[in-house]
Amino acid sequence: MSGVTELTEEPARPAPGGTPVLELRGLRVFYGAIEALRGIDLTVHEGEVVALLGANGAGKSTTLRAASGMLAPRSGEVRLRGERIDGIAPHDLVHFGIGHVPEGRRVFPRMTVRENLEMGAYRFRSPDRADLDRVFTLFPRLKERTSQLGGTLSGGEQQMLAIGRALMGRPELLLLDEPSMGLAPLIVQQIFDILREVNEQGTTVLLVEQNAAQALQLADRGYVLETGAVTMSDAAPALLADPRVREAYLGEGAAG
Ligand code: ATP
Repeated sequence: MSGVTELTEEPARPAPGGTPVLELRGLRVFYGAIEALRGIDLTVHEGEVVALLGANGAGKSTTLRAASGMLAPRSGEVRLRGERIDGIAPHDLVHFGIGHVPEGRRVFPRMTVRENLEMGAYRFRSPDRADLDRVFTLFPRLKERTSQLGGTLSGGEQQMLAIGRALMGRPELLLLDEPSMGLAPLIVQQIFDILREVNEQGTTVLLVEQNAAQALQLADRGYVLETGAVTMSDAAPALLADPRVREAYLGEGAAG
């Protein structure tokens, strides 16, 4: 049985690659006359972490916004577990179990950590103690600061709070927009370690990142977007090894 690693524990996470959780088909999104997405096809399977890479303005945030219903596509389809969700009003979409952690975090600055987290459970009648405990176990820093106002937290803590808030909605799909932005490398590492844990506990993840190396180390697969279109998609190790990706997104000079 060479090459087979013996598992000491039953993995909580299903083997990635099975059922599609999110499917984007021929997605076109406009801002006025600007065509931001020019027919995106993308699939995220149950249990996967998928990274979305690309330069500034490539359309990564727009893809997440269209996937979570914040933006209506001009044409194309968004499917969650096979069900069309494009065209559903955002306030109805919250019941579909998509958690979106937007760029810039957007925690409520004048609410406490606890209140911010409770807001994340708004699709339920009341916040669940077990969800709160799970978030505090993942992010002990937040537990130490339950009564502190969101606006007084450090950037890394605000990112943790934004992720924790999304987890309070018990999402089956977590969309993350640049969680590493503006954070020190040590904090970024902590956040990516926690994202791995969240994924191992069963949450499927679609991750937008400028930090391509970090994203591809966590991800199973990745897509590269250029000016609103997918130009590459492959397994994460293959993208990490690809000279075009290395040159454009991993800061390596052109190979001689
Ligand atoms: P970044 O890393 O800079 O956020 P991105 O890949 O996420 O880049 P998007 O923010 O999705 O890119 O933007 C895609 C295109 O749509 C860009 O040309 C951008 O200028 C444009 N765009 C984004 N948001 C708006 C908006 N609210 N109004 C008009 N144009 C927009």
